[in-house]
Amino acid sequence: MNGAWWMVALCAMAILLSVSVEAQRAGTAARAKKRLLVVSHTAGFRHEGAINSFDKIIAELAEKSGQFTVEHCRTAEDVKRMMTPEALKRYDGIIFSNTTGNIGIPDLKAFLEWVKTGKAVIGIHAAADTYHDEPAFVEMLGGEFLTHGAQCEVEVIVEDPRHPAVAHLAPRFRVFDEIYHFKNNERARLHVLGSMDRHPPDGLPGAGQPGDYLLIWCKPYGRGRVFYTGLGHREDVIESEWYKQHILGGIRWALRIVRAPEPQVGRPRPQ
Ligand SMILES: [Zn+2]
Repeated sequence: MNGAWWMVALCAMAILLSVSVEAQRAGTAARAKKRLLVVSHTAGFRHEGAINSFDKIIAELAEKSGQFTVEHCRTAEDVKRMMTPEALKRYDGIIFSNTTGNIGIPDLKAFLEWVKTGKAVIGIHAAADTYHDEPAFVEMLGGEFLTHGAQCEVEVIVEDPRHPAVAHLAPRFRVFDEIYHFKNNERARLHVLGSMDRHPPDGLPGAGQPGDYLLIWCKPYGRGRVFYTGLGHREDVIESEWYKQHILGGIRWALRIVRAPEPQVGRPRPQ
């Protein structure tokens, strides 16, 4: 092999190398923004106003943060098309925006496995009123809606002020919304972010009595992360600045955009 050939071969290798570095850079830039799918299809009660308000704020949060993009999955047909194992590969996480009932994910088991590979799930309010007939979904989300009373004002205790979803809130903040009760208290399996130390004054039996009522939490799910907030029924709540920050913090945490401690399940409520 003569010297000239070697020069040609070396030049070709150098060009190939620089092309692949460029391609990698371009790929990194394209991947810099995470992709979220906002699912708002309902097979039970429909929170029409809340879903519309959430669509509004999520567009604003995506644009202002510049950290993620959103696509919408609004109908049964959308769910069938956009939530197949193949289609899910496009996304880094899912927001269940007031979904209810069995929304028809084509392969629920594959969906849950997909979350476990390191994806994000963000559940809003009635997300806990979804898939009552699928214990694996309920286990992933961390809670199942039981009932609610009249809308009321409650005092929410922030349990982990280091968490970006609640760091901006007062240690005990007040909110007027529809407050969910859950079938079980799953504190042992959750990293609780917000709770109440008495039954909400919602007209149901036990109103005002001391107890441990969970409202906001996060948890690991395989290598994935789940964030859930029971708040988000009323449009004025959803469109308030503190709530937008609450959601943005939860999204950033679940997508691992911000550094935050790993979830620790089973923490007792701070005294
Ligand atoms: Zn509601």
